[in-house]
Amino acid sequence: MTQEHDWQVTDFQQWMIPCYAPMSVLPVKGKGSRVWDNNSKEYVDFAGGIAVSALGHCHPVMVNALVEQAQTLWHVSNVMTNVPALKLAKTLVSNTFADSAFFANSGAEANEAALKLARRYAHERVGEGKNEIIAFTQGFHGRTLFTVSVGGQPKYSSGFGPNIQGITHLPYGDLTALKHAISDRTCAVILEPLQGEGGVIVPPLDFLMGVRQLCDACDALMIFDEVQTGNGRTGALFAYQEINVIPDILTTAKSLGGGMPIAAMLTTEHIASYFSVGVHGSTYGGSPLACAVADAVWSVIADPDVLAGVKVRESWLRDGLAQIQRDRPIFKEIRGKGLLIGAELNAPWKGQAKLIMEAAAEEGVLILIAGSDVLRFTPSLLIDRESITLGMQALQRAIDRVCV
Ligand SMILES: *Cc1c(COP(=O)(O)O)cnc(C)c1O
Repeated sequence: MTQEHDWQVTDFQQWMIPCYAPMSVLPVKGKGSRVWDNNSKEYVDFAGGIAVSALGHCHPVMVNALVEQAQTLWHVSNVMTNVPALKLAKTLVSNTFADSAFFANSGAEANEAALKLARRYAHERVGEGKNEIIAFTQGFHGRTLFTVSVGGQPKYSSGFGPNIQGITHLPYGDLTALKHAISDRTCAVILEPLQGEGGVIVPPLDFLMGVRQLCDACDALMIFDEVQTGNGRTGALFAYQEINVIPDILTTAKSLGGGMPIAAMLTTEHIASYFSVGVHGSTYGGSPLACAVADAVWSVIADPDVLAGVKVRESWLRDGLAQIQRDRPIFKEIRGKGLLIGAELNAPWKGQAKLIMEAAAEEGVLILIAGSDVLRFTPSLLIDRESITLGMQALQRAIDRVCV
């Protein structure tokens, strides 16, 4: 039998399709906000698997739910429904504007469902002409052909043409541009309430409210992509609840399963009725195994104390970054909400985010980037103070090395 230390990151080149460039760390074990690699080196985890590990690694509530469900029923397909899916749907509906849920396996798939539903809804009610989708530059919605076409980063969508037609991209935050572009032909406007991948960009509040009003005026659906911002990440169950701008369709994934692949699309009963029998589906979507774990995750994050704790942890994280900034003013701006924080590098360090991320790993802290100029932090919603302190010390050492 091969041992974990027999494997190296360099084996990736031999066995895997090269669409990723894995970091030099090979994690083999995690607990809470700590991770260990194949050489037993310990890391503080500020990345959380890109805003996925909401409860940290191997949280007992998740492990128990997984083990119990694994001994009960894994999969039946959507030819039948199942109790964990019904329970999770009820949990999500009870805590949001929505009346019903559709389950998928990834953020991209939830968005694919939302975009198809919006087109279908307009098609059935108005006709073929109402098919235009408005999206925003730097937006990220996943890697299927529809979602890269809708996403606002050409590096993800070029070279796969012909792409899906009828999509307009506008600058994020520009209400005037939207006013000019939106019309009766628009079936949906899709956006993140706070852009994650695109650089942790918080739009002005009146932008989100304005989008809502323009969608209403043109009978277009407003789709909030809360794949990254949802499930407690910003300190609310969903980001829309804090800003009080209610979408017609909401998609979520990442932290929803805390590491189990699962996604959801939530909407009203009226809109949901346009996904009638046979119109859309998924073999794995809403499997008992995934839903049981997600419902367990929600049993933790729906606790008001946990949500309040996100704000406390945000302040610890921001304090740590402010201390680094006092020592060496490398940040142009520190922004974001809850435990989705971006630190944009000042001009002399532009383009160095990846170098800092790699040096940080060498020093013992895992962080993320959002583009080439922004360090991104999306730790567990339960991260402890000591981990934040240790992680910030490691980040400081990395910055001292890179930013000389
Ligand atoms: C990560 C992400 C997606 C894509 O999710 P996958 O699970 O990778 O398909 C979509 N939208 C947003 C906002 C994301 O952050």
